[in-house]
Amino acid sequence: MIIIMLGAQGTGKGTVAGLLSKSLNIPQISTGDIFRKNISEKTKLGIEADKYISKGELVPDNITVPMIEDRLKCEDAKNGAILDGFPRTIEQAEELDKMLRKMEKEVNLVINLITPKEEIIDRMLTRRVCTNQDCKATYNTKLHPPKVEGICDICGSPLKQRADDSDPEAIRKRLEIYDEKTSPLVDYYKKQNVLKTEEISISINRMGADVAKDIVKELKND
Ligand code: ADP
Ligand code: ZN
Repeated sequence: MIIIMLGAQGTGKGTVAGLLSKSLNIPQISTGDIFRKNISEKTKLGIEADKYISKGELVPDNITVPMIEDRLKCEDAKNGAILDGFPRTIEQAEELDKMLRKMEKEVNLVINLITPKEEIIDRMLTRRVCTNQDCKATYNTKLHPPKVEGICDICGSPLKQRADDSDPEAIRKRLEIYDEKTSPLVDYYKKQNVLKTEEISISINRMGADVAKDIVKELKND
């Protein structure tokens, strides 16, 4: 089963993807996480990708597309995967359809998360991530703070703010790219009849965990 997480920055894609991954026992493949791991390990891919990520721009397809294709071919993804952060453009969606066809797979479900814009910016500014690249847990200083300030509950490593979350210019740029390049994917997947839209907002008291629980219930009833 191939599931895609769609939705602007700060809607909770990573949270929902992580919970679905555990319940459905298929890997969460996050392009942002793979890039950040490569950046911290100073690999060739990481050094190249960082030039774009630090400015809030998209990493070019000639780096991103083969990276996803290789990852999807890994043994742990043979029964499927949850894609978090890919595709982000119509071109990437078409590339994904092509590579899945070769693997005799298809996109089964696209979860489109929506959140009011004021909440999104606030969530990006209050997001903290675990510095341990094998843990990568995320917290929110307001909504979901760690038990001890600045320390990961799970592994005890220090938490930090992502560089692109602390730079208002990079935040603005990422949201702009989302509207322009990524939001057309909503229609793309609506046409394929695989789109499911879910609102996540404190205003309706519905957070990522609630959405994940409902989706797992529906999938298991099918
Ligand atoms: P966010 O969704 O908050 O921007 P991600 O962790 O998904 O964070 O991505 C961080 C950065 O990595 C993006 O701003 C972009 O530079 C790069 N990136 C992630 N996924 C892709 C992709 N599919 N195509 C191109 N660049 C990507
Ligand atoms: Zn941790």
